[in-house]
Amino acid sequence: GFRMGIVGLPNVGKSTLFNALTRTAAAQAANFPFCTIEPNVGDVAVPDSRLETLAGIAKSRQVIPTRMTFVDIAGLVKGASKGEGLGNQFLANIREVDAIAHVLRCFEDGDVTHVEGRIDPVADAETIETELMIADIESIERRLQNIVRKVRGGDKEAVQQERLMKLALEALEAGRPARTVEVDAEDAKAWRMLQLLTTKPVLYVCNVAESDAGAGNALSEAVAKMAAEQGNAHVVISARIEEEIAQLDPEEAEMFLGEMGLEEPGLDRLIRAGYTLLNLETYFTVGPKEARAWTIPAGTLAPQAAGVIHGDFEKGFIRAETISYDDYVAHGGEQGAKDAGRMRAEGKAYTVRDGDVLHFLFNT
Ligand code: GDP
Repeated sequence: GFRMGIVGLPNVGKSTLFNALTRTAAAQAANFPFCTIEPNVGDVAVPDSRLETLAGIAKSRQVIPTRMTFVDIAGLVKGASKGEGLGNQFLANIREVDAIAHVLRCFEDGDVTHVEGRIDPVADAETIETELMIADIESIERRLQNIVRKVRGGDKEAVQQERLMKLALEALEAGRPARTVEVDAEDAKAWRMLQLLTTKPVLYVCNVAESDAGAGNALSEAVAKMAAEQGNAHVVISARIEEEIAQLDPEEAEMFLGEMGLEEPGLDRLIRAGYTLLNLETYFTVGPKEARAWTIPAGTLAPQAAGVIHGDFEKGFIRAETISYDDYVAHGGEQGAKDAGRMRAEGKAYTVRDGDVLHFLFNT
């Protein structure tokens, strides 16, 4: 599956957020730096109202959302790349995620210590980005030395790697994260294989006080401005509120949200923003037994989309009977869409679209 790493300085609300996301007390929140030591991993259902709608039409007995993984990565402090705090341990954890949710403290609270002794989320973002850039520089320098001999020997792969690493190094040394480097399509794979920390897409999560959950505040606005300048995404949420909502049953949660003047839990926005950040899309399989959502990267062809369900579906793929979500709803389900000529038979070259309701035919 796809993994989002939750990073941020100590005491910004990472564990609180992670707890709310996973509805467990597995990652204990505490007002103490370096409290969470092991990376905590949790699978989260991706909220999608279309799935409920489809299940309602098909009278599906079971509704199965698609899932995304969140990893609570603690230990990031100033000097982490030099072994401060939990040291380099967190770097390995970040390397393994597909994208970064960077939690920034946008709430004031005299009782909660800030490691740097001031509330400044933009400066915090820079502190962490700098640590990641230093880590990238060090790993590139190490790797450049390791491939010297191969490059001299004319090893094509090594030559390409060296060229890309030097490109990244140039940006990093000028103070720019590696994600600002544009690479050609033929270099894209080798570039990804470098697994640099600062090429991972970033979503800033502004953790605001309960009272600012709706409109945000001056601090979250400063983050929004920074994010826009960098071309990164951001969401405003109150981890405290999310923690409370996570403990309520759905009806109570609805009422609570209404009282707070909120339309939906902030976590739903966060998860969807992560989904968008990772360039993911959803297709559905719908029947009386179950309605189920499946995750694919945007641009996935029908056989590979089928492969997400089962490898045999991909191997023996014949065709995909396809109804768009809108047609499925407009014509009252599969039979209606079929009668209206809105069911298409798509072959191996079909690029699955977000919201497609699919039925795969395959050889066994
Ligand atoms: P972490 O170190 O980033 O994982 O931070 P935690 O989630 O453990 O939170 C540190 C402290 O800040 C805890 O006492 C939380 O209850 C508190 N906290 C988290 N979010 C908020 C918030 O939105 N408002 C206030 N006032 N406190 C918060």
